[in-house]
Amino acid sequence: MKQINSSRDLAVNGAEPAFSEPLHVGLPTVGDRELFLHYTEEILDRQWLTNNGPLVQTLEQRIAEYHDVSHCVAMCSGTVSLEIAIRALQLQGEVIIPSYTFVATAHALHWQAITPVFADIDPRTHNLDPDAVRRMITPRTTGIIGVHLWGRPAPVDELQAIADEHNLKLMFDAAHAFGASQGGTRIGSFGSCEILSFHATKFFHTLEGGAVLTNDDELAEAMRLMRNFGFCGVDNVIHPGTNGKMNEISAAMGLANLQSIEHVIEHNRHIYHAYRRSLEGVASVRLLEYDENETNNYQYIVLEVDEKSGVARDEIVAALQAENVLARRYFWPGCHRLKPYLELYPNAGRFLVNSEKVSDRVIVMPTGPAMDEQKVDAVISVIRVLTGG
Ligand SMILES: *Cc1c(COP(=O)(O)O)cnc(C)c1O
Repeated sequence: MKQINSSRDLAVNGAEPAFSEPLHVGLPTVGDRELFLHYTEEILDRQWLTNNGPLVQTLEQRIAEYHDVSHCVAMCSGTVSLEIAIRALQLQGEVIIPSYTFVATAHALHWQAITPVFADIDPRTHNLDPDAVRRMITPRTTGIIGVHLWGRPAPVDELQAIADEHNLKLMFDAAHAFGASQGGTRIGSFGSCEILSFHATKFFHTLEGGAVLTNDDELAEAMRLMRNFGFCGVDNVIHPGTNGKMNEISAAMGLANLQSIEHVIEHNRHIYHAYRRSLEGVASVRLLEYDENETNNYQYIVLEVDEKSGVARDEIVAALQAENVLARRYFWPGCHRLKPYLELYPNAGRFLVNSEKVSDRVIVMPTGPAMDEQKVDAVISVIRVLTGG
């Protein structure tokens, strides 16, 4: 690792990169490898590979307990969890979501011929702005999907009040928010249901996978039917359905990862504090903070480049990448500027001022097991030199 003290040391100016190996955003964390291999042997011996196997059932139970909810319905991905939850809640017409999210939130609606309507975010939290949500309600609106972006819960009480007032369904895309709390209550109990993603890049993963958390018995039952073609016993289909099942190898990965979850949180929190310390005195970028009175998984290190910074966000990202620091723009350019939705709403940007501002300012920094304090300091020194402090 090379010291960066002046602009002559920057790789964009022709120097050697600071890191010989790339630093990634979202490099998967693999928990207890021995345990995973042990479970895998068991699965192969048992020859019960999928279809609500014993490991899937155990994983569901543990995740439900961890979030203090009645039901965890495991699925093959976060996206399919969203699709099934949307259908089980019988959403139709228009559903209000943020544009500043991963495209799957919008796709899960569009895929089933429901119109996603984008509401603007609060630039301080990056989550839905309740007043903006109110402005987007029409006679066709049937629901709201809040996203707990970066694992920081959306304004759950305000959104619930709007949903109650207008007789709308409310659910949450909690793909980032495994274990996060709001007012001391862990996610899983807000709205009608909340969906998790267990994709390899997420805080907790099952290679590919996802789940719906809910306290609604009937909803859970409907989703269990829907994820398995509507089968109720052998030869008996009582509900329309799809294939949303989680397989046993994924559940084994999940159980092995659950084993080390507190350790991962501790490491993530340590790295978050390292970034915070390192960024002291750097005027042109701001770190998005986690509320330490709540539980957080600290999975995302999110920087915002000041509008008045002399160096553009994309220049900073390019300089970092030249050093092998694979920092990334995130949820750029925003769902409403992606082709399927740009065609639907060519002028949406006019109503999504904050979403556009935030997506043009954010840089997500490398985290994960490969990061340590020293590397964080070296990474931030690139920004320091580039922006002149
Ligand atoms: C990852 C993600 C999803 C999709 O989850 P998959 O498991 O990849 O299908 C949905 N919403 C958000 C906000 C995500 O980050």
